Amino acid sequence: MADELSGPQISSLKQLLLDRQSELKALDEQGASWRNTVELDQQSVGRLSRMDAMQQQEMAQAEARRRTSDLARIEIALKRMGEGEYGWCAECGEPIAYRRLEIDPATHLCIGCAR
Ligand SMILES: [Zn+2]
Repeated sequence: MADELSGPQISSLKQLLLDRQSELKALDEQGASWRNTVELDQQSVGRLSRMDAMQQQEMAQAEARRRTSDLARIEIALKRMGEGEYGWCAECGEPIAYRRLEIDPATHLCIGCAR
């Protein structure tokens, strides 16, 4: 069984979550401006074929969806942290291993329940 998280461990995981959160938000803003650029290029230069543009748009949309769901997971993790629920498996109530949280600080399940 994993050990309960210590205060310093929670602090460093919180920092990981906040860093990831601002990174995702920055990417979202970049993505928005990048999409505008593609539209402009199409109109002015016609360099991209319609197919290419559609494919790129689909990829950008898939990435945006992934970012949105990652951001939601991070927000839930931060909320759980505020409530003192963080680091405890939402399924079985056992502590989640610190090493697992270091890899994915937004996870809410222990290794046993995630399988
Ligand atoms: Zn569990």
